[in-house]
Amino acid sequence: MSESILEVQGLQLHFSQSKGIFTRQRAVVRAVDDVSFSLRSGETLGLVGESGCGKSSLGKALLNLHRPTAGKVIYQGQNIAGLSDRAMRDYRRSLQMIFQDPFESLNSRHTVSAILEEPLIIHRIGDAESRRRRVAELLDMVGLPSTASSKYPHEFSGGQRQRIGIARAIALKPQVLICDEAVSALDVSVQAQILNLLLDIQRELNLSMLFISHDLSVVRHMSDRIAVMYLGQIVEIGEAQAIYSHARHPYTQGLLAAIPKLGSAPEAVSLIGGDIPSPMAPPSGCRFHTRCAYAKDKCRVDAPTLNVDHDGHPAACHFWKELTVA
Ligand code: SF4
Repeated sequence: MSESILEVQGLQLHFSQSKGIFTRQRAVVRAVDDVSFSLRSGETLGLVGESGCGKSSLGKALLNLHRPTAGKVIYQGQNIAGLSDRAMRDYRRSLQMIFQDPFESLNSRHTVSAILEEPLIIHRIGDAESRRRRVAELLDMVGLPSTASSKYPHEFSGGQRQRIGIARAIALKPQVLICDEAVSALDVSVQAQILNLLLDIQRELNLSMLFISHDLSVVRHMSDRIAVMYLGQIVEIGEAQAIYSHARHPYTQGLLAAIPKLGSAPEAVSLIGGDIPSPMAPPSGCRFHTRCAYAKDKCRVDAPTLNVDHDGHPAACHFWKELTVA
């Protein structure tokens, strides 16, 4: 097993937010609540869950864009909370993010050349000539012609813009890529091309990748391991094959059942009822009990933990043994 490059220990990310337009009262949003996992060197860890489950907030906390309320992010053995300004700059250079909407994340008034050169200039890398060569190299790596360098983002299709976003993310030769819903805004026909490009780049640069998505079928295509997140917590984590063939948590089972299959209607197999509850007032006991078809009295009172020494991969469910399909 390869060493971990990034470790998250007991991470909490709580925000104070107004309870409504007509009140001054505030409530605590528990966006991420006691999350622990490690990202191994060279692997892709898929992070999956519905919109609003906290996965994007978690990604931003890893980049130190949100300061954690509690817990640690450890990069190559060092707690990032204790880094000097200079070491933090190096850390930010080592971790790069690819966003969902490449149009929003690219400056529309800059040419592609300026967009790709910007991180190199900020980090004082090379001279004008070597940066020009690097821009040409990056365009080639993401499958865009050299003529793209003088154009503006609006002159490209959604897929091409995401290629520019990927080129910018790898410009500084990072160690870790965080892809936040990187293909969700793209047509299905283009999604596969971008996913394959990410896989090629990951292999070529030996990157570690945290691949965040609401779509388990996309995550399956990309991931060595998968973590399933529900209402700010990881409820199941394991090798991708184990998650797909022996999902232990009813939430994971429901997400898998909702993947459309040839010849069957997805709504016919939907196992998850209702909407995700507010992270301002997570349900007592097991947070999934308000939507779980198997909930019992114990589930409403006792919160299951992920740390039980299960035979195989961990799942935060009191009754996973009874519910797992062999
Ligand atoms: Fe469902 Fe209970 Fe398991 Fe939670 S602990 S997932 S409510 S069976």
